[in-house]
Amino acid sequence: MKGDFACRRCGACCRIKDGIVRVSEAEISRIAKFLGMDEAEFVDRETEISPDRRSLVLKSRADGSCVYLTDDNLCLVNPVKPDKCRTFPLEWRNADSSEVCPAIGGETAPASRTA
Ligand code: SF4
Ligand code: SF4
Repeated sequence: MKGDFACRRCGACCRIKDGIVRVSEAEISRIAKFLGMDEAEFVDRETEISPDRRSLVLKSRADGSCVYLTDDNLCLVNPVKPDKCRTFPLEWRNADSSEVCPAIGGETAPASRTA
């Protein structure tokens, strides 16, 4: 149940090696605005083409962590973060999400959603 979940703010879900965060046009627009960038600049500097070449994704660092993850495991764009981030793991998760997120316990698992 949702009420049983308590995020430990460990940031593990933001540093998954080979993990991707797709961004929609609306998400690009709101994150760019939040960062004070125009959308073209944001796309050029902060995103890259997904491995399947179907969409844009947020850039990752060499260690796999998201470029917006801080040293304190906070999200620099938290108020406007992508829906994929906002809804994990309560509204979606994958079969291996419990290996990533230490706070996933015995709640009823929602339907999974691929990246
Ligand atoms: S946008 Fe924020 S919540 Fe999403 S992966 Fe990056 S740091 Fe984590
Ligand atoms: S991995 Fe789980 S506990 Fe850690 S920050 Fe992400 S949602 Fe929270």
